[in-house]
Formats: sequence, C-alpha cells, structure tokens
Amino acid sequence: MSVNSQVFIGIGANLGDAKVTVSKAIAALAQLPETTLVAQSALFGSAPIDSTGDDYVNAVAEISTRLSATDVLQHLQAIELAHGRERPYRNAPRTLDLDLLLYGDEEINTNDLQVPHPRMTERAFVLLPLLQLAADIHIPGKGLAREYVAAVANQRIQELPTI
Ligand code: ADP
Ligand code: MG
Repeated sequence: MSVNSQVFIGIGANLGDAKVTVSKAIAALAQLPETTLVAQSALFGSAPIDSTGDDYVNAVAEISTRLSATDVLQHLQAIELAHGRERPYRNAPRTLDLDLLLYGDEEINTNDLQVPHPRMTERAFVLLPLLQLAADIHIPGKGLAREYVAAVANQRIQELPTI
C-alpha cells in the first residue's frame, strides 16, 4: 500500500493568455492519475525576475498523490509540452512553467530533480500563493516559508481579481 504525499506545484505563465494557461494547467493537475487536487491559490500577477516580457501570472496548487516525485516531474513536463512550451534560450518567456516545490517533507537532490525547489524561498510569486494555501508550511532544510517573505518584499506582485 502506497501512501499519499502532500505536494505543492508552482505554476507560471507569461505568453499568450496567461490566466487561461494557468487555469488549464490546474485542471490538468486535477486529472493526473492517483492524484487529487486539494486546493489552488488565487492567481497573482508578478514582474518578470531573471526573465523578460509581460508580467507573469502565477499560482500554487496543492495535490495529494500516490505518484513518486519523479513521476510527478514527468507529468509536469508533459503538461508544459502540451501547452506549447518553447525554450529558445535560458529564462526565456515561457508559455507555461511548472515546478515541483515540495513533496511531503522529502529532500531530493538528483541531476534532474531538486526538492524543495532550490529557488522557492527567493521568489515572492512562489511564497505568497503557497502561504495562502498553507500559512504554517515548513520547507525541509530551510524552516518556515513565512520567514522568507520579508526578504522578497521588494518584488512586485499583486493578487489578481477573480472573474
Ligand atoms: P525554473 O523553473 O527554475 O525557471 P526551468 O523550468 O527552466 O527552470 O528548469 C527546468 C529543469 O529543471 C528541468 O530540466 C528539470 O529537470 C529541472 N528541475 C530540477 N528540480 C526541479 C523541480 N523541483 N521542479 C521542476 N523542475 C526541476
Ligand atoms: Mg521550471
């Protein structure tokens, strides 16, 4: 019997109709095998960091899954491809970026996968939506997520209105 893991996925898009893309990505997560969509944050708009182009639309989704972390990553990459992700150069604007932020309390460090996502504590567009879902969430090896918010206060981000 395998156990469900609590998993958080970071979602970002800044090409095309980014809000629609983020919503479709969340719908795709809900359809993954052996997986339940537990919660989704509001959509946020954020200024590009280490990237160019329009503002990003960001969100975080929480899933409960029996999939391994590697399998989750493979599914995330398939969803990215299904949304026409192109990678002309590093940190280029992208149709859809899906990051495996947290996989239960596991720490994973392989060539293809680092969990917790190594840059998540430096990014307001990850921290704010994540904290909406889990105000007391702990990042393995790093401590409470909320303790990193003050350091990213200079990053422009706003919650987008619903509808
Ligand atoms: P970023 O999301 O940091 O802007 P990219 O999406 O361009 O970077 O990087 C994708 C690569 O990152 C993939 O090849 C994947 O193997 C690797 N990777 C390592 N750890 C993770 C993770 N936790 N979530 C998503 N991709 C990861
Ligand atoms: Mg990514």
